Amino acid sequence: MSVRLPAPFYRDTSVHDEDGAVKPAAQMSSNEYVRIRAEGSPKPGRLWIRPVRNCNHGVTICEECAESWEFDHAVDYHWTLGGRALLQRLLNVDNTDSEVA
Ligand SMILES: [Zn+2]
Repeated sequence: MSVRLPAPFYRDTSVHDEDGAVKPAAQMSSNEYVRIRAEGSPKPGRLWIRPVRNCNHGVTICEECAESWEFDHAVDYHWTLGGRALLQRLLNVDNTDSEVA
């Protein structure tokens, strides 16, 4: 769990920059992103959902870093198809602090 791969490099596109941050005007399919709201900010943002091995944790979101996003963001998993799928993977993967068997 402590192995850290180098941050992936993405192409700068109309959807996201080289770090994977979603651009405000990006057109994204509902299964590509999860909606978040930063604490104290009324304006929701979007996180690009990536596979764990190809996630720039802290900029994009995956099963592994989703929990850390929740510390200071409201993560609206149910808002998008991708968010619901991510939540499903989280529930399947992470049993460490869950009462669900
Ligand atoms: Zn991640």
